[in-house]
Amino acid sequence: MKKRVKKIVMKFGGTSVATGRNIRRVAKIVANSVKKDHRVVVVVSALAGITNQLVEEAEQAKKKNEKQIQEFARKLVEKHVATVKEAIDNKSIQKEAEYVIKKTVSELEKVLTGICYVGEITPKSRDYVLSFGERLSAPIIWGALRDIKLKTQYLTGKESGIVTDENFGEARPLMNVTTHQAKGRLEPLLEKNVVPVVTGYIAATQDGVVTTLGRGGSDYTATILSVALSVDEVWIWTDVDGIMTTDPKTVKSAKKLPQLSYGEAVEMAIFGAKAMHPSALEPVIEAHIPVRIRNVFNPENHGTLIADGQEAKSKEVVKAVAMIRDVAMINIKGAAMVGAPGSYSKVFDVLGKNKINIMMISAAVSEANISLIIRRNLLGRTLSTLEIALLGRGLVSEITSEDDVCVIAAMGANMKGTLGVASRIFTAMAQNGINIRMIAQGSSELNISFVVKEKDGEAAVRVIHEEFKLDQI
Ligand code: ADP
Ligand code: ASP
Ligand code: MG
Repeated sequence: MKKRVKKIVMKFGGTSVATGRNIRRVAKIVANSVKKDHRVVVVVSALAGITNQLVEEAEQAKKKNEKQIQEFARKLVEKHVATVKEAIDNKSIQKEAEYVIKKTVSELEKVLTGICYVGEITPKSRDYVLSFGERLSAPIIWGALRDIKLKTQYLTGKESGIVTDENFGEARPLMNVTTHQAKGRLEPLLEKNVVPVVTGYIAATQDGVVTTLGRGGSDYTATILSVALSVDEVWIWTDVDGIMTTDPKTVKSAKKLPQLSYGEAVEMAIFGAKAMHPSALEPVIEAHIPVRIRNVFNPENHGTLIADGQEAKSKEVVKAVAMIRDVAMINIKGAAMVGAPGSYSKVFDVLGKNKINIMMISAAVSEANISLIIRRNLLGRTLSTLEIALLGRGLVSEITSEDDVCVIAAMGANMKGTLGVASRIFTAMAQNGINIRMIAQGSSELNISFVVKEKDGEAAVRVIHEEFKLDQI
């Protein structure tokens, strides 16, 4: 009987492709898998830091800073060409990759100049600008794979068949058409043992207009394609051994969690553990496709397996703790809100209509006060939206905000129905002199989240890590 070939989607994040040396590592990892007769689809992020630079540059262009555009374009070519030279030995492959890079940056220069003349950036044009990071990294990985004699082809998210709605900046895939198209475009390549290198993060609307899937969206590209192609596994390659009890950059003794259920992993993704795209797991949950988080710098390690029935094994109820930075808190007060039906819905309605996502809510039983957590970059817009809609209309008397806060989330499936978790957390905070500004527990009971001043955030994470002995998990 013929051996069934295993199909795998492998996603490589920004750090994994940050330098030419790292890209050689990536190429080796792919080659090893192909040698084992796996059929591999590669999804790549932009080189580390490039998407942030594009965000910044789009803002600068809007301010009519035309001179800076040329300088930015020059540096972008320089960086990517240097990476090509480091990643690829064969001179003619180097030349081809360089040609693609120069042509792509010259297109970006035109887009930025356009923004500069109009003096305005729309969600559509912003996505177009942000798409260039991945469009520049994919040809380098493609070149590095060819350099070690693999058959390969690079494609944009759009060319690979991913179609989304028109929600620029946070677009969502239309799975039926995506599945149909991705199968049609990628399966024939896989059958010929060609490794498709697909740009993560970017896709297109039905009319072919470029969209992005939201920051960190390359994870999402990987899971979307994995479902479309019904693969056996998704491997998310990154710069740490897997999902850990907390960010190893904050707590050195953080431990890897060898396995997680989808529910636990979703909870952790939402709360920023391994900066995974919060929607990335949605497609694979229904399709029951296992996801493995692995370390490019330690490929022998099996990483974290996320799959059905893989609850993290731990005696402790709390298995992980995360800190979410870049948030702001808004307090809405008004004695008239007490007992007034529909007063909450007015707040949510006006925010929803303005596409402002609420990350966390807490309300007192007295109902005279609601606190909300939102992304910090939306604070100005949220405040003005709420003030225009609510103030001076008899319901809300005061709206205040704090922009120097962070959310701490403690997670674990065993928390459900276990008494005393909250009291242990909050006693530990009090004993360490950390003041809590707001508390919320999701009804899933998989996590307890609370808000502290940002300056206390890292200490709060360490205290919980210690209290629940997470370094001994
Ligand atoms: P990539 O560029 O590969 O997508 P990200 O930067 O998005 O990588 O995510 C990996 C980073 O997430 C790690 O370097 C780590 O510092 C951070 N991180 C935060 N919390 C956790 C956690 N609980 N487990 C693992 N990594 C975490
Ligand atoms: N390059 C994109 C970002 O920085 C997508 C990703 O890396 O996943 O958000
Ligand atoms: Mg990421």
